[in-house]
Amino acid sequence: MSSYLVKSLSSLSPYIPGEQPKEGEDYIKLNTNESPFPPIQEAVKRAEEKVRPFNLYCDPTLFDLKKAIASSFSLPQECVSVGNGSDELLLFALLCYTNYNIPLITPDITYGYYSVVASLYDREVIQIPLKDDFSIDVSDYEGKKGTIFIANPNAPTGIFLEREKIEELLNQDKDRIVLIDEAYVDFASNSVLPLINMYPNLIVTQTFSKSRSLAGLRVGMAFAQKHLIEDIERVRSSSNPYNINSFSSSLAIEVLKEEETTKKRIEVIKKNREYITQEYKKLGFDVLPSSANFIFVKSEKIDGYDYYRKLKENGVLIRHFTNSRISSWCRVTVSKIEDMKILVEKTKEIIK
Ligand SMILES: *Cc1c(COP(=O)(O)O)cnc(C)c1O
Repeated sequence: MSSYLVKSLSSLSPYIPGEQPKEGEDYIKLNTNESPFPPIQEAVKRAEEKVRPFNLYCDPTLFDLKKAIASSFSLPQECVSVGNGSDELLLFALLCYTNYNIPLITPDITYGYYSVVASLYDREVIQIPLKDDFSIDVSDYEGKKGTIFIANPNAPTGIFLEREKIEELLNQDKDRIVLIDEAYVDFASNSVLPLINMYPNLIVTQTFSKSRSLAGLRVGMAFAQKHLIEDIERVRSSSNPYNINSFSSSLAIEVLKEEETTKKRIEVIKKNREYITQEYKKLGFDVLPSSANFIFVKSEKIDGYDYYRKLKENGVLIRHFTNSRISSWCRVTVSKIEDMKILVEKTKEIIK
């Protein structure tokens, strides 16, 4: 840190993403909830043929991409915005709907980026504790003034909040914005997307990063009624009007045409999630019920950090968080069955 850095930034603790191994480091990678499948090859081929020439700026209106997303989700185009990953849309929403007297309200255990980005922009964060079983009790949000961000399924727990509960949250206060971050929703039973027609205070974000195998491309989307999308677009155009590069845009459009393959891949992950959940339970682990492409596990036999570290020594990367409420737990990405089997074998050796 230099002595020139403004005071307000010197106390910032940046978001810590899961480690990405360097070239030559050969890990089974179960630490960042990526898809184990490569981008769909047919889509890549078509995207390469159709992509806008790189000497030209990409389209700042994102017309074709928004059109493709809108039609794929059966929504009007005016209800769609696109971000450089859904992370960027979370930032835009934070800038739109919080300030010095409108705090951000989130569960105490959730996606770490929310509070990091809030502190970067000096927003107060009110954390509402999850229940002892890590579920959300929406009545805890009654009367709380601010803008709510909830990941559903939640991360890193994987627990899903039913649609009726989210409606309850929306109805508590129509003057309060509720953003539902559905990064993992394709691995769950249903999305709250159909609710946007009915609720002027609802924003839903989703991403191409998890179920669509495009984490490295950085494309996420926000859905809401037109008046909210106009707000988000206002900030997008003011901060980063070329936020989606031409190739990402082109490939995202083509991947949307491959719903069949995408669905099959999601089914494989769900099946493997069931497999690895049962295997962990056989080994005496606690496993939270997951609706995502990861599971949250802990064992009486081994501390969370030790389990993470020993798996790493054995060539398997998982994620451990130091937050004291969850430090005995680890988050494990659900991947290909071969890798799940290796994980089970290594785990058996470690806890023996
Ligand atoms: C992965 C993730 C995101 C961000 O995804 P992008 O790659 O930025 O689209 C957002 N929210 C949660 C809860 C996530 O786990």
